[in-house]
Amino acid sequence: MLFSRYLLPVMKETPSDAQIVSHQLMLRAGLIRQTAAGIYAWLPLGLRVLDNIANIVRREQAKAGAVELLMPTIQSADLWRQSGRYDAYGPEMLRFQDRGGREMLYGPTNEEMITSIFRDCVRSYRDLPRTLYHIQWKFRDEVRPRFGVMRGREFLMKDAYSFDMTEEGGRESYDAQFTAYLKTFAALGLRAVPVRAPTGPIGGDLSHEFHILADTGESEVFYDSALDEVDLADPEAPARLRSLYAMEAEEHEKVDNCPVPPERLARRRGIEVGHIFFFGTKYSAAMGMQVQDRDGTLVTPLMGSYGIGVSRLIGAIIEASHDAAGIIWPDSVAPFDIGLINLRPDDSACAAAAHDLQAKLEAAGRTVLHDDREARGGEKFATMDLIGLPWQITIGPKGVAAGTVEIKRRATGEKHEASIESVLAGLLK
Ligand code: ATP
Ligand code: MG
Repeated sequence: MLFSRYLLPVMKETPSDAQIVSHQLMLRAGLIRQTAAGIYAWLPLGLRVLDNIANIVRREQAKAGAVELLMPTIQSADLWRQSGRYDAYGPEMLRFQDRGGREMLYGPTNEEMITSIFRDCVRSYRDLPRTLYHIQWKFRDEVRPRFGVMRGREFLMKDAYSFDMTEEGGRESYDAQFTAYLKTFAALGLRAVPVRAPTGPIGGDLSHEFHILADTGESEVFYDSALDEVDLADPEAPARLRSLYAMEAEEHEKVDNCPVPPERLARRRGIEVGHIFFFGTKYSAAMGMQVQDRDGTLVTPLMGSYGIGVSRLIGAIIEASHDAAGIIWPDSVAPFDIGLINLRPDDSACAAAAHDLQAKLEAAGRTVLHDDREARGGEKFATMDLIGLPWQITIGPKGVAAGTVEIKRRATGEKHEASIESVLAGLLK
């Protein structure tokens, strides 16, 4: 991709309306533009990150046996009347009428819709268990949209829904999502703390929120600092993490006897990036969904729902990974693998070498943003650091004469000279 043909409006100054570093950097690096309070356009670079995150979520959902579908953003009020939530849901729900006067809403979540689809498609125990998910825009008219995509009004969520014949099966579906969440966040370069959340009438430990620890987080979390030591690559990690104490402040305050000795109790702020919940027959019963069991009896399936804040995750990743110069993308979500800087686009040898290198890297499956603009070197370096691509390759007249380029790893700042051939061989490993 040529920078000269791209839309990448970077800003030198820190925007005064952005309070936290991830919001500032998302605006400065040209990832998003606000179009109304809490509503953003995703510019080309931001969209690439959003897609990369969504694809990692998809990969881990598939491994957990979940099946993707796509439900609409617009829903009918009648559907929500079936569960009794239409009146219960407050002013966060955006309600409107179509031209025929029918009451509609922009979905803040999809339990009702998935239950109605499942109710209409499924009749028999043979069709269960199933976990279905979609990645779709939600609208919640938040009282205080803030911190950019962290608390937007329109935001992208992965929401999965499980259907099981038995409580035991429901627990297994829940456990599969719990494990998938840990793998998803690890693949995004994040360490998430699973925090036990209130479950309502069902009780047990079947609701967790996943928090990324960051000083700018909106939540406060108390947890056993042994959590920090758990090796996430260990297959026992999910069970170990669930056995350790972690609660949001509000819940922690209700606990009479905290099981963690004071010297081991950590208190940190966190960003909620996921929330999973097993709620049994709450929606299936209210909406009259039943399936026939093996012996002909009718069973009301047990359900769980599992959300990930896909757009919020971009903010969380930046909060966790940046420096004074800009964003440092984990390799897995970076909008391009490589930023190729041509210091002298006006020099025909430099231009030829840069275009050739871009073509070879792209042919080898690498994504490249090639800065071919007529601009000062210092400006190009600053822009590359700001947008945070994992690798920078710089081409200049001296190097071209010698057949070399300079390579920089954004995360460490380490630089070295290398021959173009060895760069291709080394980077392509
Ligand atoms: P919060 O407590 O942050 O308001 P929630 O508990 O209302 O979130 P859920 O209904 O559990 O959110 O939604 C699943 C996930 O969607 C959350 O864990 C979060 O990552 C994301 N999310 C929720 N609200 C927003 C929002 N306004 N902007 C961006 N992401 C959001
Ligand atoms: Mg939540």
